[in-house]
Amino acid sequence: MPDLSIILPFHNEATGVRDLFQRLYPVLHKLELSYELICIDDGSSDATFAALRHEREMDQRIKLVRMARNFGKEAALTCGLHLASGNAAITMDSDLQHPPEVIPELVKKWQDGVEMVYAIRRNRDTDSETRRFFSRAFYLVFEKIADIKMPEGAGDFCLLDRKVIDAVNSLPERNRFMKGLVTWVGFRRDVVPFDVAPRAGGASSWDFFRLLRFAFDGLSSFSTLPLRIWTWSGAAVSLIAIAYGLYLTLHTVIYGTDVPGYASVMVGILLLGGLQLLSLGMIGEYLARVFTEVKARPVYFIAERIGFGE
Ligand code: UDP
Ligand code: MG
Repeated sequence: MPDLSIILPFHNEATGVRDLFQRLYPVLHKLELSYELICIDDGSSDATFAALRHEREMDQRIKLVRMARNFGKEAALTCGLHLASGNAAITMDSDLQHPPEVIPELVKKWQDGVEMVYAIRRNRDTDSETRRFFSRAFYLVFEKIADIKMPEGAGDFCLLDRKVIDAVNSLPERNRFMKGLVTWVGFRRDVVPFDVAPRAGGASSWDFFRLLRFAFDGLSSFSTLPLRIWTWSGAAVSLIAIAYGLYLTLHTVIYGTDVPGYASVMVGILLLGGLQLLSLGMIGEYLARVFTEVKARPVYFIAERIGFGE
């Protein structure tokens, strides 16, 4: 059993593989801990797996997993935690945005007894203006409505003690918002700030809509407020409608009928129609997620694994 399992998800990162290991090795050697490197090729369409294989020829501590297709980063991390055999695991991006030089600081805290060490980004300079705006908005909303407290700037660069790995592995849900799950299980935790580096090469796998879906996955996994909010809005709208109804009745009784009223009718119809569609959509979002859980499909399939002692 190694001391450390480093979990690295790869999606079309062929150009960066060599650089990554070149940066990782000096850091790991200095640590004087035994380690394994679990590399998960998340359905890359480029030469990532071949490049990883080449690395393994030089170092048997590199273990390889090839996913049957692109299951997404959360699935890749889930798989990595399932396969990790170390006393602790470190998950990090493979595009060198998470600098390996931070690892000793994470390990230091772990050796001092912290069970979960989060590397949190000091800045978002490497992100575009719009992405920064939306991630800030996401964290703000998440902070307000979610049942858990996630450290601001927390990504998937963290160290988890064996106890935490086992806890996260025991969670049965398929909707795997890893940062949330890792926070939810509890345990003694601490943070280490770091500066995000620009991507070493290649391109980010996340476009706006994928991030949006990811954000809602996170929110819906850890908050039911978007569902419950409609009860209160419904009640408020109904109260207003009753009051208005009373007013209209009295007005008609006292002054008789007057035909004009197009504006108020239209406003009422449009407002209520909009609210109903919105709340239906919200219920649909949750229902869709319940549906995924009920189907109980595995989170990922492995096409090939090398180095896990089979
Ligand atoms: N990644 C993955 N599967 C995916 C998308 C991304 O394993 O479907 C990996 C990717 O190779 C990288 C990490 O997740 O190591 C972060 O992805 P990326 O750099 O594209 O995201 P960003 O840094 O822009 O948030
Ligand atoms: Mg990146």
